[in-house]
Formats: sequence, structure tokens, C-alpha cells
Amino acid sequence: MNMSGDQIREGLRNDEFIPFFQPVVTLHTGEVAGVEVLARWQHGSLGIVPPGAFIAIAEQEGLIGELTAMLVWKAFTAARMLPDPQWLAINISPHLLRDLTLPKRIREAAEAAAFPLNRLVIEITESALVENLEHAQTISRELRAQGCRLALDDFGTGYSSLLHLQSLPFDELKVDRSFVGSMTERRESRKIVSAVVGLGQSLGLETIAEGVETQEQAEMLLALGCEMGQGWLFGRPVPAEQLSDVTIARPAV
Ligand code: C2E
Ligand code: CA
Ligand code: CA
Ligand code: CA
Repeated sequence: MNMSGDQIREGLRNDEFIPFFQPVVTLHTGEVAGVEVLARWQHGSLGIVPPGAFIAIAEQEGLIGELTAMLVWKAFTAARMLPDPQWLAINISPHLLRDLTLPKRIREAAEAAAFPLNRLVIEITESALVENLEHAQTISRELRAQGCRLALDDFGTGYSSLLHLQSLPFDELKVDRSFVGSMTERRESRKIVSAVVGLGQSLGLETIAEGVETQEQAEMLLALGCEMGQGWLFGRPVPAEQLSDVTIARPAV
């Protein structure tokens, strides 16, 4: 399913985009470290539409800024219930890293919703090339100066991963689920995860494994030195009404 630009415009007018929240867990304690905001479209007739059907089109149509603003505002408001020090992670499209007013807009939204900026993580996906690295650097530095942390998302799958890692001031590295999903069966995947975790450690970054579905994967990740995990083993993305259910500690690995 792929939605059109006009449908997305209509969805924006009708205020139909909402945040879901998925827990990220510290593997050795089972404690919830934070939650990631994942976009959903609560469509009038189609029901809940996943982001794969609209994010890329929203980017192409120049609607991703408006969509992100709507989501982030709702997420900040809901996240006031998050127990301190749990953080909130939002996905920021590389398309938005051209706009030098982004840090200011994020700061103003957080302040208006009374959500502390030092508990905000900005996840930058590698789904698109960061076109203007200089602008991206300015924006990243400013975001960090105002207390936010930066995560490089989907590491290993996108464009110029290592270039981005070298050029932008990241705090966290997210290992893509395509490697995590096959690591207990495929030696190659396990080696890749191990190398990425090692790279993160040597650069002083925290590593988060995505798509952790089994206890076996969680144990292997912990043994490889990966600090945090996210996936169905710990909890699926849920709407704001169920946010308090995902913020409690899980059984430790
Ligand atoms: P992502 O940032 O890599 O988010 C993780 C995706 O993996 C989510 O898919 C999540 O539901 C899914 N996932 C989490 N745990 C598991 C698991 O154990 N097994 C499996 N099979 N999947 C798991 P989702 O919600 O469909 O989002 C897809 C992508 O859409 C995201 O990937 C992100 O790149 C993008 N996206 C979502 N929300 C936003 C947004 O607000 N802004 C932007 N720019 N992109 C967004
Ligand atoms: Ca993400
Ligand atoms: Ca990711
Ligand atoms: Ca991913």
C-alpha cells in the first residue's frame, strides 16, 4: 500500500497522524531506558496505516516537516508521563537537516509541552543521503548544545554510514534489525553485529540493537557488549494510552 501526496495532505488537515511508542531496554538490567516514537496514520477508512506507506512520499512531497511537527508535538505531550530519566527518541528525516531552524523549532515545542530537552534523542536515518553535510553539522551541534542526544539509525544499511559517523556528533548507534534478525543463524550477521558494537565502543557511543525478537538474540547481544535492545521481545509499539504499560522494567536478560 502506498498513499498519495493528496491523501497525506488530507490526513494532515484532519489531524490523523499519531505517535506510537516502543520501549528500549538496558539489556543487563531489563530496565526501560527510553521509548522511540513511531509514526502511525489513523486513517478514517483504512484504520492504522504503518509509516512504510507514507514517510517516503511525505518526504518527496515536501510534507515531512509538517507531519513531523504534528507527531512530535503529540509525542511531547504524552511523554510528560514518562518517568524520569526515561528518554524519548524521535525520527528525523535527513530532508529536515537542510533547515537551520530545526533546533529552535524542536526547542520551542519541547518547552511549550514542558518536556526536558536533555531527555530527547534525535534519530537520524540513513534512508536518504544527507545532502548538505555542513548544514547537518551546524544543526547537529546546535541540537547537542541544547541538551539533545543524537543517534545514527539503521547503521549499516543506508548511505555513507561511516562518513556520517565521522562527520556528525553522534552519541548512539542503532544496529539495523536485518543483522540482528539473522545473527543467531548466520555467522556473518553475528560478526557484523560484533564489529558494529566494537566500532561503537571504540568511538564512545552507546549501541542499541533493533528488532530483538528472541531471548537467544538478547543473550548473544549482551555477550557481544551491546548495551541496549529494542524489539518485540521487550514490547511492540503502542499508542499513548498504553504508554505507561511499556515504561515498566522487563525481566533482565
Ligand atoms: P526504524 O526507525 O528503524 O524503526 C524501527 C522499526 O522496526 C519500526 O517499524 C518498528 O515497529 C519495527 N520493529 C521494532 N521491533 C521489531 C521487532 O522485534 N521485529 C520486527 N520485525 N520489527 C520491529 P515501523 O514503525 O513500521 O517504522 C518503519 C520506519 O519508518 C522506521 O524505522 C523509520 O525509519 C520510519 N519512521 C517511523 N516513524 C517516523 C517518523 O516519525 N519520521 C520519520 N522520518 N521516519 C519515521
Ligand atoms: Ca528509528
Ligand atoms: Ca532503525
Ligand atoms: Ca530499521
